[in-house]
Amino acid sequence: MARVVGRFAPTPSGYLHLGNLFCSLLAWLAARSQGGKIILRNEDLDIERSRPEYALQAQRDLETLGLLWDEGGDRAGPHGPYEQSRRFPFYQTQLEKLEAMGLVYPCFCSRAQLHAASAPHAGTGEPVYPGTCRNLSPEEVARRSQTRSPALRLQVPAETLSFVDGHYGLQSQFLPEACGDFILRRSDEVFAYQLAVVADDGDMGVTQVVRGNDLLSSTPRQLLLYLLLGYPAPQFFHTPLLLASDGRRLSKRDGDLSLQGLLARGLTPQDVVGRLGFLAGLLEEPVPCTPQDLLPCFSWEKVPRRDILLPPGLFPGAER
Ligand code: GLU
Repeated sequence: MARVVGRFAPTPSGYLHLGNLFCSLLAWLAARSQGGKIILRNEDLDIERSRPEYALQAQRDLETLGLLWDEGGDRAGPHGPYEQSRRFPFYQTQLEKLEAMGLVYPCFCSRAQLHAASAPHAGTGEPVYPGTCRNLSPEEVARRSQTRSPALRLQVPAETLSFVDGHYGLQSQFLPEACGDFILRRSDEVFAYQLAVVADDGDMGVTQVVRGNDLLSSTPRQLLLYLLLGYPAPQFFHTPLLLASDGRRLSKRDGDLSLQGLLARGLTPQDVVGRLGFLAGLLEEPVPCTPQDLLPCFSWEKVPRRDILLPPGLFPGAER
């Protein structure tokens, strides 16, 4: 069987928080327990929100915890560059493949128009694009392009896409109702996450994607892109999210506890790994350990499916 290739794909828009570390630990265990390798990709697509110091700190945090990788970051490899901000020419070639299939069209709608025109899809808060610009004539496109640069959208087929998530089981989505025609490149010419992540995982030979379940609903549209771009789809394992004690999701924007913050409060890296391993259901007690120590007890069966409320006191400083 081909070797498992997993990946860490942090977005450097803030310090990694406990939820990011939890997911990275599971990605590491899932790949290493199968003798797989791991690629580190810096997902700094959105240059305005990304900062190099966060990308560097993410590498340091992973290293501190013992979550080592094989390619990317400060490790050379055959699939570079490993920073999305340096891969725009590659994304352009992928976009052109889709354009050649006649599946891409320009969209001139503003954010405000989109929000007014469409009900958010239940649960995700993302508006479903109603197809407003799908059938503009070439003349109309030329006219509107004079005053506004368009986003580019992929025309999705009226089909249901299904896949079996390694942790959450069978998932199905009727694309026109779940997301509608989605953006491949924004009007400011930044490539969309959906296109970049598929093109990168495809190009880098990733066979196993482990990430938070907030991206479960993006997976069917990514599978469509794998199919269209001609890459074999990886196996997906989504993980439960960690929730603050008041039930909200952890987020980089809210400045949720970073590894540096935890170490400053007196925890050791092994304390953090042990407590994350405990939350993942791999340990009976939150005892200090290394990622290596968790390998023999790793199994997706033990990992909860429901999002995990951080127990009070487990990570000092987590409750604010
Ligand atoms: N870069 C994304 C994040 O930090 C993860 C994307 C993915 O795993 O597909 O949330």
